[in-house]
Amino acid sequence: MKENICTIPVNEVFEVHDGCPICRMRDIIEAKYIDYITGPAMMEPDIRIETNRAGFCERHFGMMLTCGRARLPVALTLESHLVDVREKMLGKKPDKKVLEAIEKLEHSCFVCEYIEPHLARAIETVCLSYKNEPEFRRLYESQPYICLSHYRMIIQCAKKPLGKEFDAFAEVTRRLVRKYADSLQEGIAQFRDAFDYRNAGKPMPAEARTSIESTIEFLTSRPAATRQAPETKTGENH
Ligand SMILES: [Zn+2]
Ligand SMILES: [Zn+2]
Repeated sequence: MKENICTIPVNEVFEVHDGCPICRMRDIIEAKYIDYITGPAMMEPDIRIETNRAGFCERHFGMMLTCGRARLPVALTLESHLVDVREKMLGKKPDKKVLEAIEKLEHSCFVCEYIEPHLARAIETVCLSYKNEPEFRRLYESQPYICLSHYRMIIQCAKKPLGKEFDAFAEVTRRLVRKYADSLQEGIAQFRDAFDYRNAGKPMPAEARTSIESTIEFLTSRPAATRQAPETKTGENH
C-alpha cells in the first residue's frame, strides 16, 4: 500500500504536552489505517496479495476487531490468508524452507509495515519544522519525554533534514530523553523504598505509584496493560 491516507498535523500533536509525541503520531497513523483496511480497501487485489504475504501481528488483529469498520472484510482477508497458509506451509512436508516461511510470517504484519515508513516521513517533517520554525523548536524542547524506540527513530531520521544542525539536535533530544529516564529511575527507587520498614505508614509519593507503568510505557512505546493502581500505603501487599 503505497498511497498516503494520512497527513499528520505535526504542530497540533506537539501542542499536546502529554506523553511521547511520536507515539501520538503513530497512534493517528495506526487508527486511520485500521479503519481504511477494514473498509472497502480490503477487496482490492493488490492489498490482498500483501495481506496474504505479511499477515498481521496480534495487536493489529485485535484492533481490526475492536476498532475496525466491519467484520466481513476481516473474514474475507482471513479466508484468503488461510488458503495461502494451507498451500505454502501445510501442503507439503515441513522442510527447512517451510519452517522459515512460517517463522517469517510470525514476525511480519501488514499494518506494522505500513506504519514504519509513514512514521519515518512524519518524523522528517518534525525535524524540518525544528530546523525552520523557532516556535516549533520551543514546542519540541518542552515535550515531557520521547520514548526509547522513538528516540532511536528520531535520531535515525534526523541526519538528512537537520544537516549541520544534526549534532546539536541529537544532543537536545538525548538530554530530553535522559532527563525523563532519570525521573523514572527516581520514581522506581521511591517505590522500592516505600517497602522499607522505616517508611511504614507513610503515603507513597505520586510519581512512585505510577513509576512501574510509566517505565514500561517509556521502554515499549505502549501503555502497560495493568490492573488497578496499587495501594498508596506502605506495609501492605502491593
Ligand atoms: Zn513514542
Ligand atoms: Zn502489527
